[in-house]
Amino acid sequence: MSSRTPLIAGNWKMNLNISQSTELVKAVADGIKGLSGVDVLVAPPFTNLYTVRQAIGKADIFLAGQNMHWEKDGAFTGEVSPQMLIDAGCSHVILGHSERRSLFKETDEMINSKAKAAFMTGLVPIVCIGETLTERENGWTFDVIRNQLKGSLKFFIEEGRLPASTILAYEPVWAIGTGRTATPEQAQEVHRFIRGWIEETFDRAVSEQVRILYGGSVKPDNASALMACKDIDGALVGGASLKADSFMGIIRF
Ligand code: PEP
Repeated sequence: MSSRTPLIAGNWKMNLNISQSTELVKAVADGIKGLSGVDVLVAPPFTNLYTVRQAIGKADIFLAGQNMHWEKDGAFTGEVSPQMLIDAGCSHVILGHSERRSLFKETDEMINSKAKAAFMTGLVPIVCIGETLTERENGWTFDVIRNQLKGSLKFFIEEGRLPASTILAYEPVWAIGTGRTATPEQAQEVHRFIRGWIEETFDRAVSEQVRILYGGSVKPDNASALMACKDIDGALVGGASLKADSFMGIIRF
């Protein structure tokens, strides 16, 4: 039995206005009353962060940005800095989501700069990695994952130390928003590989502490089977995190 507390994280993407976000987070705060043994996080759009933070009040819900720039301030129109996320009440930040990689051309190098900036500022990075369908079908999954890990965590590799609070999210691109989930066996195989890579690159102790989330069409009816896998420490949830019922169904896996 692992000592890692599972984390269920909701990525709301570019959805929900301020009142919808507030209503949803309040419903989640009510839903988790009396629940223990699971951490919960929400990542609303930037414009809703501060209000959601106020709505969370004393409830045990972490708040995350969905992205950020690596610089602390300056002429970067349209960007948000790590300190701004902290100011708005965030403790975490999602980095390198596949939509950022594919639609906004984010590279491992950029994600590495962001992961370094998050660490330096005191935000916990949730670094996303995952292969496309073509890469999987060509048998390249492990090479792709290894390269993304090496590139996105370069700063930590050079430092020779990965903070145990770091969170990784394995999100096969072919399973995101498609309704097609990796089987628990497929997901566990990659999670095991990632944990092995952390052990080889850093050390055994940290490999046993870092949480590795699975993401890709997680729903209340497939959550328990995925969470039962030894190396799966929670879920990064898109679509199903937008409704209190389905998000709570996953949190109660
Ligand atoms: C995501 O965007 O991180 C995600 C996993 O989305 P969905 O749950 O909708 O597949």
